[in-house]
Amino acid sequence: MKARFNGKCIECGETIKVGKEIVKNSNEKWVHKACSDIEEELP
Ligand SMILES: [Zn+2]
Repeated sequence: MKARFNGKCIECGETIKVGKEIVKNSNEKWVHKACSDIEEELP
């Protein structure tokens, strides 16, 4: 989903800006889509 508020990615430590694609990792923390440790289903 897209971030609706500013936050911080615990994986890379960078800021998560509103509108960025984010996902929850295995610890239920919001991280950048690219930083997730959960494999995504590929089409
Ligand atoms: Zn990140």
